[in-house]
Amino acid sequence: MSERSDGAWWQLADKHLIRYGGEFNPVLIERASGTRIYDRSGRSILDFTSGQMCAILGHNHPAVVAAMSEASENVLHLFSGMLTTDVIAFAEELAGVLPAGLTKSILLSTGSESNEAAFRLAKLVTGGFEVVAFAGSWHGMTAAASSSTYSAGHRGYGPAMPGTMALPTPNSYRCPIQHCSSKCDLACLDAGMSIVDAQSVGQPAAIIAEPVLSAGGIVVLPEGYLARLRDLAHERGYLLILDEAQTGLGRLGSMFGFELHDVVPDILTLSKTLGAGLPVASTITSSEIEEQAAGRGFLHFTSHVSDPLAARVARVVLSTVINEGLSKRAKRLGERLRHGLVALQESHEMIGDVRGVGLLQGVELVKDRHSKQPAEHEGELVTQRCLELGLNLNIVKFKGMGSVLRIAPPLTVSEAEIDEALGILDEALTSTGR
Ligand code: PMP
Repeated sequence: MSERSDGAWWQLADKHLIRYGGEFNPVLIERASGTRIYDRSGRSILDFTSGQMCAILGHNHPAVVAAMSEASENVLHLFSGMLTTDVIAFAEELAGVLPAGLTKSILLSTGSESNEAAFRLAKLVTGGFEVVAFAGSWHGMTAAASSSTYSAGHRGYGPAMPGTMALPTPNSYRCPIQHCSSKCDLACLDAGMSIVDAQSVGQPAAIIAEPVLSAGGIVVLPEGYLARLRDLAHERGYLLILDEAQTGLGRLGSMFGFELHDVVPDILTLSKTLGAGLPVASTITSSEIEEQAAGRGFLHFTSHVSDPLAARVARVVLSTVINEGLSKRAKRLGERLRHGLVALQESHEMIGDVRGVGLLQGVELVKDRHSKQPAEHEGELVTQRCLELGLNLNIVKFKGMGSVLRIAPPLTVSEAEIDEALGILDEALTSTGR
């Protein structure tokens, strides 16, 4: 271990690292276990972001560590056209927890890549190229995924992919068409779709959605929205892609977010939570769509497609979520978390809204509840104070989407850890003044 001080490390970081997303978080982490991460001095910090929303089994879960070591002993990587039995078994096991319309999958590495593959499938099968996504979406940083990521990152990178269009985000706390005040009646969907229709050149490929928009401010799709979106998509010839990077594998209290809406997508993408901290992703579709795509020579031949390491880890993550009943647990603990957050709202004027499902909760901070002006600076102070007090939270605050604390602990979090985090948040909100 190096003898350098934190200050010396930060100087080196300044000198050698490309800044890829604003300032770096000001702690240097040395190790992680369960819900906790530890800085270089050994100080414990509760990680209520599950890393980058991925570590649903807690950090360094023994089953994941064992899977990595088994893969290291057997095989880590192969020629992309070569398979191990784990790759096939994972596809079988995944199909076993998905509805009949989702039987065929490809094993990949990242969320962006899973969406690239989904778009490539949709384009090839429909023959179109138009892709619609929410104005508050985040689907990744690669070319097509970032073209359909409207919450951030469009300015300065030249043209997006041709045919990309946005739909209003159905956030009833900040109704995009200033129509609803608390309950969304789907008017924004109809209005948005008519604008999409006006722009379309008649070459539809896909509409992509998250069941809960996460980077867009923890916006839960309203009741009936997804079914209507699917119907409108299909009427026009778009395939429906659901991106369950964050919502898949139990976090919402159901195995997948789409189950809560009774809507089966044409293409499903899983990533973040599927690797529980390792780069693992998958794009899943029906045998009909796969058949058509294969017939047209579908190509997604990457260095890490069907990697044995990813397959081993994905199998273990899936079976751990199932065998340990983690979606049920997320539901139960999510209720405890939400209850605590709603109680905080009663005593802190700064909390304008609490929303979310299961263990994916958002706390929207406002300057006052009447104006609903986003409390951006205060949000920074609250997260900073939380970190000082031993709680890591994110704030998502892209333009026009408010200032929202994103709270998503691992599904293995304990009741005591939830209570501890709520206590820290309470203290941070109090010390920030309101
Ligand atoms: N989809 C969603 C819903 C995401 O939140 C993210 C990452 N924030 C991605 C896709 C992209 O995943 P990755 O960063 O692994 O490429």
